[in-house]
Amino acid sequence: MYRRTIIAGAFVLGAAPALAKTAPLPRPRLIALDPGHGGSDPGALGLGGTQEKNVVMAVARELQKQLLVQNRFRVTLTRSTDTLVPLRERVARAQDAKADLFLSLHADSHPEPHIRGASVYTLSEQATDREAAALAQRENGGVTRAQVSPGVAQTLVSMTQRGTVNASNRLATTVVQSFGRSGIRLLPHSHREAGFAVLTAPDIPAVLVELGYLSNPHDEKLLTVPQHQVALARALRGSIETYFGAAVSPATTPAPSRKA
Ligand SMILES: [Zn+2]
Repeated sequence: MYRRTIIAGAFVLGAAPALAKTAPLPRPRLIALDPGHGGSDPGALGLGGTQEKNVVMAVARELQKQLLVQNRFRVTLTRSTDTLVPLRERVARAQDAKADLFLSLHADSHPEPHIRGASVYTLSEQATDREAAALAQRENGGVTRAQVSPGVAQTLVSMTQRGTVNASNRLATTVVQSFGRSGIRLLPHSHREAGFAVLTAPDIPAVLVELGYLSNPHDEKLLTVPQHQVALARALRGSIETYFGAAVSPATTPAPSRKA
């Protein structure tokens, strides 16, 4: 009897480490941040001389810093220096790193200087409107829709099969909501669609965020102010946290966003 008790006790004592091994901590999600343009391509230019490539890098760096706090996320940048990385290469870098999310950061320009506010874009073969189509052409480095379209159509099929389209729409919705809660000015119809070449990794939910208009003097000033860059990064971090919080259980997945 005595011996059996010892064996039972040993078994119980030995059980704790075995149980702990079966419940590993979740792997921190990997966020691919894509600061647009770079090097010889400054992107949009402000009247005050602000270059899009610098503004988006500043926000990407701040967002990287915020995401790395508490080790909940890992971050990879598609470019970390002032160099021009081709759009395909950006997609490939995110895929090679096995990113869980892709966030492309930009700032726009418009012939009408009064136009201002942020907006969020997801991939589509058909652009929501002419402005979104023109924007995609600018961000694709002048490549026309006809040139990009066959690749986009093919990508969208596999994105739909894998649930990446719905996931990207959900991410776009959380960005719009997070900006709204943070008091960041948004364009009307804040979530639009177009054929952006940089949003074509079939497995990675992806959005392109235009943080504001460098052609608007007020937006241009805001985009260069460190406090506003921090606020933009905080709102983006909030949307990423919300996205993954909501994505934990499929049962609580919100309905796909309505296109504005
Ligand atoms: Zn851009």
